[in-house]
Amino acid sequence: MTAVEPYEIVALRYATHDRPASANLLYPPGPDEDPHDGPMPLDYFVWVCRNRERTVVVDTGFDWPSAASHGRTMLQHPIEGLRALGVDPAAIRDVVITHLHYDHAGNLPAFPNATFHLQDSEMDYATGRCMCHPRLRAAFDVEDVVTMVRRVYEGRVSFVDGSAEIAPGIEVHHVPGHTRGLQCVRVETARGPVVLASDAAHFYANMERQNPFPIVVDLAAMMESWRTLVRLAGDPDRVVPGHDPLVRRYYPAHPSSAVEAVLLHEPPTRSAP
Ligand SMILES: [Zn+2]
Ligand SMILES: [Zn+2]
Repeated sequence: MTAVEPYEIVALRYATHDRPASANLLYPPGPDEDPHDGPMPLDYFVWVCRNRERTVVVDTGFDWPSAASHGRTMLQHPIEGLRALGVDPAAIRDVVITHLHYDHAGNLPAFPNATFHLQDSEMDYATGRCMCHPRLRAAFDVEDVVTMVRRVYEGRVSFVDGSAEIAPGIEVHHVPGHTRGLQCVRVETARGPVVLASDAAHFYANMERQNPFPIVVDLAAMMESWRTLVRLAGDPDRVVPGHDPLVRRYYPAHPSSAVEAVLLHEPPTRSAP
Protein backbone atom coordinates (compact mmCIF):
# COMPACT_ATOMS: atom_id res chain seq x y z
CA MET A 1 0.00 0.00 0.00
CA THR A 2 1.31 3.43 -0.88
CA ALA A 3 1.79 5.66 2.13
CA VAL A 4 -0.43 8.75 2.19
CA GLU A 5 1.40 12.02 2.29
CA PRO A 6 0.41 13.49 5.66
CA TYR A 7 -1.86 16.50 5.74
CA GLU A 8 -1.52 19.76 7.56
CA ILE A 9 -4.72 20.83 9.28
CA VAL A 10 -5.48 24.47 9.93
CA ALA A 11 -8.34 25.47 12.22
CA LEU A 12 -9.49 28.95 11.22
CA ARG A 13 -11.44 30.83 13.88
CA TYR A 14 -13.95 33.10 12.20
CA ALA A 15 -16.42 34.05 14.95
CA THR A 16 -17.08 33.86 18.66
CA HIS A 17 -19.93 34.12 21.15
CA ASP A 18 -19.79 35.04 24.84
CA ARG A 19 -22.09 32.87 26.91
CA PRO A 20 -22.30 31.20 30.32
CA ALA A 21 -21.30 27.58 30.96
CA SER A 22 -24.94 26.66 31.45
CA ALA A 23 -25.50 27.37 27.74
CA ASN A 24 -22.96 24.69 26.82
CA LEU A 25 -23.60 21.90 29.32
CA LEU A 26 -26.92 20.10 29.57
CA TYR A 27 -26.59 19.05 33.22
CA PRO A 28 -25.83 21.31 36.21
CA PRO A 29 -22.39 20.99 37.84
CA GLY A 30 -21.83 17.87 39.92
CA PRO A 31 -20.85 17.99 43.64
CA ASP A 32 -17.12 17.94 42.79
CA GLU A 33 -17.37 20.66 40.11
CA ASP A 34 -17.31 24.47 40.22
CA PRO A 35 -20.92 25.46 41.02
CA HIS A 36 -20.65 28.95 39.48
CA ASP A 37 -22.16 29.58 36.09
CA GLY A 38 -19.06 31.35 34.80
CA PRO A 39 -18.27 32.58 31.29
CA MET A 40 -17.63 29.86 28.71
CA PRO A 41 -17.26 31.49 25.29
CA LEU A 42 -17.84 29.47 22.15
CA ASP A 43 -15.61 29.85 19.09
CA TYR A 44 -16.51 29.11 15.46
CA PHE A 45 -14.10 27.40 13.08
CA VAL A 46 -13.70 26.11 9.58
CA TRP A 47 -10.89 23.67 8.86
CA VAL A 48 -8.45 23.20 5.98
CA CYS A 49 -6.75 19.84 5.34
CA ARG A 50 -3.93 20.23 2.86
CA ASN A 51 -0.99 18.33 1.43
CA ARG A 52 0.92 18.76 -1.81
CA GLU A 53 -1.74 16.92 -3.79
CA ARG A 54 -5.01 18.30 -2.54
CA THR A 55 -6.86 20.69 -0.27
CA VAL A 56 -10.10 19.66 1.42
CA VAL A 57 -12.21 22.20 3.27
CA VAL A 58 -14.26 21.03 6.24
CA ASP A 59 -17.38 23.15 6.83
CA THR A 60 -18.08 26.56 5.39
CA GLY A 61 -19.17 28.74 8.31
CA PHE A 62 -21.85 31.42 8.31
CA ASP A 63 -22.08 34.81 6.63
CA TRP A 64 -22.66 38.35 7.89
CA PRO A 65 -26.49 38.22 7.95
CA SER A 66 -26.41 34.97 9.94
CA ALA A 67 -23.92 36.45 12.37
CA ALA A 68 -26.27 39.38 12.92
CA SER A 69 -29.46 37.34 13.20
CA HIS A 70 -27.88 34.92 15.69
CA GLY A 71 -26.06 37.66 17.64
CA ARG A 72 -22.61 36.18 16.97
CA THR A 73 -19.42 38.23 16.71
CA MET A 74 -17.85 37.72 13.29
CA LEU A 75 -14.07 38.12 13.48
CA GLN A 76 -13.33 37.50 9.82
CA HIS A 77 -15.66 36.19 7.14
CA PRO A 78 -14.70 32.51 6.76
CA ILE A 79 -14.27 32.80 2.99
CA GLU A 80 -11.94 35.77 3.43
CA GLY A 81 -10.08 33.77 6.06
CA LEU A 82 -9.63 30.89 3.63
CA ARG A 83 -8.27 33.28 1.03
CA ALA A 84 -5.84 34.68 3.60
CA LEU A 85 -4.61 31.11 4.10
CA GLY A 86 -3.93 30.84 0.37
CA VAL A 87 -7.03 28.77 -0.33
CA ASP A 88 -8.96 29.73 -3.45
CA PRO A 89 -12.56 28.58 -2.82
CA ALA A 90 -13.22 28.33 -6.56
CA ALA A 91 -10.39 25.82 -6.89
CA ILE A 92 -11.66 23.54 -4.13
CA ARG A 93 -12.98 20.19 -5.39
CA ASP A 94 -14.04 18.62 -2.08
CA VAL A 95 -15.87 20.15 0.87
CA VAL A 96 -16.96 18.06 3.83
CA ILE A 97 -20.11 19.38 5.48
CA THR A 98 -20.12 17.82 8.94
CA HIS A 99 -23.80 18.74 9.37
CA LEU A 100 -26.24 21.33 8.09
CA HIS A 101 -26.42 23.70 11.06
CA TYR A 102 -26.11 27.35 10.07
CA ASP A 103 -22.61 27.74 11.50
CA HIS A 104 -21.26 24.86 9.40
CA ALA A 105 -23.13 24.98 6.09
CA GLY A 106 -23.40 28.61 4.94
CA ASN A 107 -21.48 30.20 2.06
CA LEU A 108 -21.97 27.21 -0.26
CA PRO A 109 -22.08 29.39 -3.42
CA ALA A 110 -18.48 30.42 -2.68
CA PHE A 111 -17.44 26.91 -3.81
CA PRO A 112 -18.72 26.70 -7.40
CA ASN A 113 -16.59 23.69 -8.36
CA ALA A 114 -16.82 21.62 -5.20
CA THR A 115 -18.52 18.36 -4.42
CA PHE A 116 -20.10 18.45 -0.97
CA HIS A 117 -19.74 15.33 1.17
CA LEU A 118 -22.76 14.84 3.43
CA GLN A 119 -24.41 11.98 5.31
CA ASP A 120 -27.70 10.66 3.92
CA SER A 121 -29.20 10.89 7.39
CA GLU A 122 -28.32 14.59 7.70
CA MET A 123 -30.23 15.50 4.57
CA ASP A 124 -33.11 13.31 5.74
CA TYR A 125 -33.07 15.06 9.11
CA ALA A 126 -32.86 18.60 7.73
CA THR A 127 -35.67 18.11 5.22
CA GLY A 128 -37.99 15.74 7.06
CA ARG A 129 -40.52 15.66 9.83
CA CYS A 130 -38.09 16.57 12.61
CA MET A 131 -37.94 20.10 11.17
CA CYS A 132 -41.61 20.52 12.09
CA HIS A 133 -40.34 21.00 15.67
CA PRO A 134 -39.08 24.54 16.31
CA ARG A 135 -36.43 23.42 18.78
CA LEU A 136 -34.98 20.84 16.41
CA ARG A 137 -34.82 23.23 13.46
CA ALA A 138 -33.54 26.23 15.46
CA ALA A 139 -29.87 25.83 14.46
CA PHE A 140 -30.68 25.24 10.78
CA ASP A 141 -31.07 28.04 8.26
CA VAL A 142 -33.59 26.96 5.64
CA GLU A 143 -31.70 28.88 2.94
CA ASP A 144 -28.57 26.79 3.57
CA VAL A 145 -30.62 23.60 3.41
CA VAL A 146 -32.36 24.69 0.20
CA THR A 147 -29.00 25.61 -1.30
CA MET A 148 -27.74 22.11 -0.51
CA VAL A 149 -30.85 20.61 -2.13
CA ARG A 150 -29.98 22.62 -5.25
CA ARG A 151 -26.47 21.15 -5.15
CA VAL A 152 -28.08 17.68 -5.10
CA TYR A 153 -29.94 18.52 -8.31
CA GLU A 154 -26.68 19.78 -9.84
CA GLY A 155 -25.03 16.45 -9.11
CA ARG A 156 -22.61 18.03 -6.67
CA VAL A 157 -23.43 16.19 -3.44
CA SER A 158 -21.68 12.95 -2.60
CA PHE A 159 -23.78 11.15 -0.02
CA VAL A 160 -22.24 8.96 2.66
CA ASP A 161 -24.04 6.33 4.70
CA GLY A 162 -21.78 5.74 7.69
CA SER A 163 -18.07 5.80 6.85
CA ALA A 164 -16.21 6.66 3.65
CA GLU A 165 -12.76 7.64 2.44
CA ILE A 166 -13.31 10.84 0.49
CA ALA A 167 -9.65 11.23 -0.49
CA PRO A 168 -6.52 9.23 0.36
CA GLY A 169 -5.96 9.79 4.09
CA ILE A 170 -9.24 11.62 4.73
CA GLU A 171 -12.25 9.71 6.04
CA VAL A 172 -15.66 10.75 7.28
CA HIS A 173 -17.53 8.79 9.95
CA HIS A 174 -21.09 9.08 11.17
CA VAL A 175 -21.20 10.33 14.78
CA PRO A 176 -24.88 11.05 15.43
CA GLY A 177 -26.49 12.54 18.51
CA HIS A 178 -26.16 16.32 18.12
CA THR A 179 -27.97 15.92 14.80
CA ARG A 180 -29.05 12.71 13.11
CA GLY A 181 -26.43 12.86 10.38
CA LEU A 182 -23.41 14.53 11.96
CA GLN A 183 -20.07 13.23 10.69
CA CYS A 184 -16.53 13.70 11.98
CA VAL A 185 -13.42 13.81 9.79
CA ARG A 186 -10.35 11.61 10.37
CA VAL A 187 -7.23 13.02 8.75
CA GLU A 188 -3.78 11.42 8.47
CA THR A 189 -1.09 13.75 9.78
CA ALA A 190 2.57 13.43 10.74
CA ARG A 191 1.49 12.92 14.38
CA GLY A 192 -1.04 10.23 13.53
CA PRO A 193 -4.73 10.42 12.67
CA VAL A 194 -6.41 13.60 13.89
CA VAL A 195 -10.19 13.55 14.31
CA LEU A 196 -12.10 16.77 13.75
CA ALA A 197 -15.07 16.17 16.02
CA SER A 198 -17.11 19.12 14.80
CA ASP A 199 -20.23 19.21 16.97
CA ALA A 200 -19.88 15.62 18.19
CA ALA A 201 -17.97 17.44 20.95
CA HIS A 202 -18.28 21.22 21.09
CA PHE A 203 -15.88 21.43 24.05
CA TYR A 204 -13.32 19.16 25.70
CA ALA A 205 -15.59 19.54 28.74
CA ASN A 206 -18.51 17.82 27.02
CA MET A 207 -16.45 14.63 26.72
CA GLU A 208 -14.37 15.01 29.87
CA ARG A 209 -17.36 15.63 32.15
CA GLN A 210 -19.68 13.43 30.10
CA ASN A 211 -21.95 16.46 30.01
CA PRO A 212 -23.54 17.03 26.59
CA PHE A 213 -23.98 20.24 24.70
CA PRO A 214 -27.70 21.05 25.01
CA ILE A 215 -28.53 20.80 21.30
CA VAL A 216 -29.12 17.06 21.07
CA VAL A 217 -31.54 14.87 19.17
CA ASP A 218 -30.34 11.53 20.59
CA LEU A 219 -28.48 11.59 23.88
CA ALA A 220 -27.46 7.95 23.90
CA ALA A 221 -26.09 8.21 20.37
CA MET A 222 -24.14 11.33 21.32
CA MET A 223 -22.48 9.51 24.21
CA GLU A 224 -21.57 6.58 21.97
CA SER A 225 -20.16 9.05 19.45
CA TRP A 226 -17.72 10.41 22.07
CA ARG A 227 -16.26 6.90 22.25
CA THR A 228 -16.21 6.63 18.49
CA LEU A 229 -14.14 9.84 18.26
CA VAL A 230 -11.45 8.50 20.60
CA ARG A 231 -11.45 5.09 18.92
CA LEU A 232 -10.98 6.65 15.49
CA ALA A 233 -8.17 8.91 16.72
CA GLY A 234 -6.45 6.22 18.80
CA ASP A 235 -5.57 8.88 21.39
CA PRO A 236 -7.77 11.54 23.09
CA ASP A 237 -5.09 14.13 22.28
CA ARG A 238 -5.87 13.69 18.61
CA VAL A 239 -9.58 14.51 19.02
CA VAL A 240 -10.24 18.19 18.30
CA PRO A 241 -13.53 19.63 19.58
CA GLY A 242 -15.54 21.81 17.25
CA HIS A 243 -16.08 25.02 19.22
CA ASP A 244 -13.64 25.11 22.14
CA PRO A 245 -11.47 28.24 22.69
CA LEU A 246 -8.96 25.90 24.39
CA VAL A 247 -8.03 24.63 20.92
CA ARG A 248 -6.32 27.93 20.26
CA ARG A 249 -4.47 27.66 23.56
CA TYR A 250 -3.29 24.09 23.04
CA TYR A 251 -2.12 24.30 19.43
CA PRO A 252 0.57 26.51 17.86
CA ALA A 253 -0.61 29.60 16.01
CA HIS A 254 -0.53 29.77 12.23
CA PRO A 255 2.44 31.94 11.22
CA SER A 256 0.28 34.40 9.25
CA SER A 257 -0.93 37.44 11.15
CA ALA A 258 -3.77 37.81 8.61
CA VAL A 259 -5.78 35.03 10.25
CA GLU A 260 -6.64 33.67 13.67
CA ALA A 261 -5.71 30.08 13.07
CA VAL A 262 -3.88 27.19 14.70
CA LEU A 263 -2.07 24.12 13.39
CA LEU A 264 -3.75 20.87 14.41
CA HIS A 265 -1.16 18.61 12.77
CA GLU A 266 1.32 19.79 15.40
CA PRO A 267 1.26 18.15 18.84
CA PRO A 268 -0.79 20.11 21.39
CA THR A 269 1.28 22.25 23.75
CA ARG A 270 -0.44 20.52 26.63
CA SER A 271 -2.52 17.41 26.74
CA ALA A 272 -6.24 17.57 26.38
CA PRO A 273 -7.79 17.55 29.86
ZN1 LIG B 1 -24.31 21.93 15.22
ZN1 LIG C 1 -21.59 24.14 15.50
